Amino acid sequence: GLKTGIVGLPNVGKSTLFNALTEDVNAEAANYPFCTIEPNVGVVSVPDERLLKLSGIHDSAKTVATSLEFVDIAGLVRGASEGEGLGNQFLGNVRECDAIVHVVRCFEDENIIHVDGSVDALRDIEVIELELALSDLGQVERRLTKVSRDRKLADEAQALRKVQTVLDEGTQARFADLDDAELAAIAPLNLLTLKPAIFACNVNDDSLATGNAMSEAVAALATERGEGSVLVSAQVESELVSLSPDDRADYLDALGVTLDTCGLRALVRAAYDTLGLITYYTSGPTETRAWTIKDGWTAPRAAGVIHGDFERGFIRAETIAYADLLQSGTEKAARDKGLMRAEGKDYVVKDGDVMLFRFNV
Ligand code: GDP
Repeated sequence: GLKTGIVGLPNVGKSTLFNALTEDVNAEAANYPFCTIEPNVGVVSVPDERLLKLSGIHDSAKTVATSLEFVDIAGLVRGASEGEGLGNQFLGNVRECDAIVHVVRCFEDENIIHVDGSVDALRDIEVIELELALSDLGQVERRLTKVSRDRKLADEAQALRKVQTVLDEGTQARFADLDDAELAAIAPLNLLTLKPAIFACNVNDDSLATGNAMSEAVAALATERGEGSVLVSAQVESELVSLSPDDRADYLDALGVTLDTCGLRALVRAAYDTLGLITYYTSGPTETRAWTIKDGWTAPRAAGVIHGDFERGFIRAETIAYADLLQSGTEKAARDKGLMRAEGKDYVVKDGDVMLFRFNV
C-alpha cells in the first residue's frame, strides 16, 4: 500500500493526530520528546460519496472503502542527519514512505514544552527540512563519486548535480526542476526531499475555523511553493473520536467548522491528492469496493492491487465511467446504451472507473 509518513519536531502533536486518524483512542500521547519510538502504522479509510452511491445502484451486501496507510514517525530533532536522537532510524522510516505530512505546531500552550523553547512555525519547518536535505545531500554526494567515473551514467550524474545545487542552497530536491528522464535516473536513491509533501498546521480549537498568524505564514509558504497546507487540531480530533455522532456535530458547530472542510477528512483528502492518487471501483451485488491506484496506471497494473493473478493473467477489462453508470441508473441500462467499454492492457484507468477484470489463472 501507499504510505504517508507523519513527520515533525517532537511535541508538535504528531501522535495525537495519528491516534485520532486511526481512531485508536487508547494509544498514549506523552508530554516529552521521543515518546513515539517505533513507527506506528495505521490504516485510514478515505471518505468517498461515490462509493455509497455505487453500492446503492447494485444493492451490494458489503461496501468497502479504500484506505491510506499513515506512519507516525518518531520525533526528528536538530542533528538527526548526523545520527542525533533517533535520527538515522527516523530518516530510514521516512525513506519508506511515498509522501509526507509535515505537522507544524501552530498553537501556544505553556504546558507543552517546545524543544527549542519557543513556538515558531517557520523556524520549525526549516529545522525539519534541513535535516531531510542534509540526509539527501549525503546520499547524492556518495552516489556522485561513483557515478562520475562512469561515462555511461553521465545523465544520472547531471541529474545528481542539479539536485546537489538545490540542496546546497537549502531547498528541497523536488524544486530542482528535473525532467522525467532525470527523475527516473535518480529514483533508486529514494530521496526524502523529492517526496510530495503537505503541511498540517496544528492549531488550538479556537483557531480551527480561521487559522492564526502562524498557520497563515505556513499556508503562504505552501502556496508560494505550489504545495498544500491544511488546518487541523490534533486536540479537537482526539476529542471527536470519543463523542457520539450527534455530539460531534454539536461540537463542530460550536467551533464553526464542518467535518469536511478541516481536520482529518481534509488531511486524508489532501494526502490523496498530493500522492497523485485516484480511485477505481469494483461493484456488484456481493460487494462494492474502492481501490486506490496512482494516476497514469494501466488496467493490468490497477488490477494487480486486487490480486497479483489479476495482473499476470490480465485479458481485458470491462469498464463503465462512474458518471455514466450513475446517469444510466443500472448497469444494464448503461450496457444497452453502449457505455460499457472493453479495454485492453494499454488502457489507462481513469478516476471513477467501474471495472470488471477478465483474466486467466
Ligand atoms: P508528538 O511528539 O509530535 O507526537 O506530540 P504529541 O502528539 O505527543 O503531543 C504533545 C503534547 O501536545 C501532548 O500533551 C498533546 O496533548 C499536546 N497537544 C497536541 N496537539 C495540541 C493542540 O492542538 N493544542 C494543545 N494545546 N495541545 C496539543
